[in-house]
Amino acid sequence: MVSETQKRRNRTATRIVDCRLSIVDCRLDAGAAGGSSVANRKSPILRALESVTDPEIPVLSIVDMGMVAHVRIEREKIAVDITPTFVGCPAVGLIRESVAAALAAVGETDVTVNIVFDPPWTSDRITPAGREKLREFGVAPPGPRCGAGQLTEPTHVPCPFCGSLVTELESLFGPTLCRSIHYCHRCLQSFEHFKPV
Ligand SMILES: [Zn+2]
Repeated sequence: MVSETQKRRNRTATRIVDCRLSIVDCRLDAGAAGGSSVANRKSPILRALESVTDPEIPVLSIVDMGMVAHVRIEREKIAVDITPTFVGCPAVGLIRESVAAALAAVGETDVTVNIVFDPPWTSDRITPAGREKLREFGVAPPGPRCGAGQLTEPTHVPCPFCGSLVTELESLFGPTLCRSIHYCHRCLQSFEHFKPV
């Protein structure tokens, strides 16, 4: 059976914010003072964003999660659009602060962090690297989603520990709406699954 310790460990394990950094959009005024430095700022800005981790899954950055929808650099100003994984995810405020702090650390102080819902976040935005990190973290990554905005939970999710498909759904809702709990009959562990959404 599943030990309480294991259950607790899994419970504290996850909530994921997935963000694929799709575009870094530099709108540069030809006449803008200091505009030539914009290109040089892109790499530090990207690295800063990659340093912001999901508060509940510290192995994943918001870039891994596909949460960074858009970055605009215009003169001294930077606008970062964050698309939250779930409307109710409580970590949004913290992520917003972390993004501003990470950018301030590379000298970008004129930063606006917007929470956007267009494009909507879907679990398909989690990068391949992010999926691998999830698995290593003991959370089964989401498969392709089956319907827009619909929680579709497969019954036999591959176990992230041993890969077995002899697993069953234990609880549709884990610690958050984003996760369900499954049990693996081969390695006798319960694990969380990041639901495809
Ligand atoms: Zn297993």
